[in-house]
Amino acid sequence: MKANSRKRLFLSLVLVGLVLTAVAMAFSWYLIRSDAPVGRWVGITLVVFGVGFLVYALAGLASLTISLLTGHNIAFLSKAREQVAFAFLPVALRVGGWLGLDKDKIRASFIEVNNQLVNQRQVHTTPDQLLILAPVCLQEASCVRKVTHDIENCRQCGRCPVGDLLRISKHYGVHLALATGGTKARQLLKELRPQVVIAIACERDLVSGLQDARSIVVKGIANQRPNGPCFNTLVDIEEVENTLQDFLTPEHI
Ligand code: SF4
Repeated sequence: MKANSRKRLFLSLVLVGLVLTAVAMAFSWYLIRSDAPVGRWVGITLVVFGVGFLVYALAGLASLTISLLTGHNIAFLSKAREQVAFAFLPVALRVGGWLGLDKDKIRASFIEVNNQLVNQRQVHTTPDQLLILAPVCLQEASCVRKVTHDIENCRQCGRCPVGDLLRISKHYGVHLALATGGTKARQLLKELRPQVVIAIACERDLVSGLQDARSIVVKGIANQRPNGPCFNTLVDIEEVENTLQDFLTPEHI
């Protein structure tokens, strides 16, 4: 299917969905306005759902604000807090766009929020449950070693951060994988089923990964791009190692 056809299919489905929603709303409004007893129940149901949704969203927003400002986690609102954070991301990106803000700055801010929420959960795990997931652009472009196929192919020659990541992954006994993109990353998560992921990538890929893997604990570390995007990128190895230590149970550090 050509790209335009795919887009048309998606847009048609969205349009059909909108028409169905409008018809449902118009019908509900008709029932509420009519004298039929069912109209009253439809009205009550809509009000209950509407108020419930609003209360849930406000509770999540309050919990998120308290968490970010005080570092205090209201445990029973954790789920609502995270759902609100993710739900507000597209809104933040849109509003930021209107204000002419750099989208990567907004994404970096969201990653910070995510990381703080992850910290507050105080998750600790064993090395076999932890995966460091890094992008292939960390590999020195002239290196011929097929590290995405098998990370052990890296000779740790010191020319790029892959060797350092391999060193710390071996030292702590955690998994390390290099992904060529989102599809490969999802495949690795499916295969390894880690409890915790330390994800290294650019802000855009990190945010997209965080949205895809919400059932897993993921802490994001943005790579550095002194040579431009996707080319000989770098990462703060000390930050990766410190993050790793935070997640491991004391006997594994
Ligand atoms: S550390 Fe050396 S061998 Fe390993 S991926 Fe980088 S350049 Fe290649």
